[in-house]
Amino acid sequence: MRKPLAVTMGDPAGIGPEVALKALASPGAADAGPFVLVGSRRVFAETAQRLGLAAGAPCEVLDCTPVEPAGRFGALHADLAEAAARSVEEAAGLALAGRAAGVVTAPLTKEGLHLAKRPYPGHTEMLAALCGTPGAELMLLAGGGLRVALVTTHLALADVPSMITPERIGRRLDALAAGLARDFAIPRPRIGVLALNPHAGEGGRFGSEELKVIAPAIEAARARGVTAAGPLAADTAFRRQLAGEFDALLAMYHDQGLPVLKTLAFEAGVNVTLGLPIVRTSPDHGTAYDIAGRSTASERSMLAALRLAREIADRRESK
Ligand SMILES: [Zn+2]
Repeated sequence: MRKPLAVTMGDPAGIGPEVALKALASPGAADAGPFVLVGSRRVFAETAQRLGLAAGAPCEVLDCTPVEPAGRFGALHADLAEAAARSVEEAAGLALAGRAAGVVTAPLTKEGLHLAKRPYPGHTEMLAALCGTPGAELMLLAGGGLRVALVTTHLALADVPSMITPERIGRRLDALAAGLARDFAIPRPRIGVLALNPHAGEGGRFGSEELKVIAPAIEAARARGVTAAGPLAADTAFRRQLAGEFDALLAMYHDQGLPVLKTLAFEAGVNVTLGLPIVRTSPDHGTAYDIAGRSTASERSMLAALRLAREIADRRESK
């Protein structure tokens, strides 16, 4: 029998429990099971009732926090933030102990992690720390015919250029190549590396990062056997990937890579963390406080995350 995928609750003030339960109850999840929901039994029960799921939570629940939701939607609460962080730690623990096939996380907020005294910019970095491999993580988004990984994630745009170093690009390229081979069954992935500046800097006229940092990092990766091309002008690279020229793109920063993907894969994109010893996916949206508690949130991205986590877990299991 397959091990369950551990599905975290997310922040109960957001749409996390709702999209998790909706996705698990949908027919599309059936062949990706079994699952274990990790969080507060009371939150899941209240959510199931609100959604009209007569049977309650559609799978086993690991009750790791006594928190009561009591309809506190749309704002940060210290106890709910603590519960959300707790459920991530429990789920990661299950996967690290070999008792879960992987972790699928429902959304929480960075502010909430901060409030709960987990000093991470997001799930990705938190999970890397819990796995004992900080810095090895790589954020990849998949959807709309694209796969886009990021060199930098959640930081101010003004801080991006100083974080674009040959070492960091090299580490990300290696993690991306290895992750695509291991988890996506693409043995020799072709990776396009985006430039930082418009027109890839036009030979140094619009910035020197391409010449000084990105091109040398690509050269070094190629010497290690990674099939990487670039620096590519970012305005046309996504079309080239859609046309089949690349298996994935490596973008330099969050809003260089993600807007194109999220436009093409609205409500259906999946976030995957590569580079970790455990399987981890998540929907590509946040807590959506503005619609929390209304039962109108779409579970499509969560369902895609469940299915991709199972695909990757099965692939790793069969090795
Ligand atoms: Zn983000």
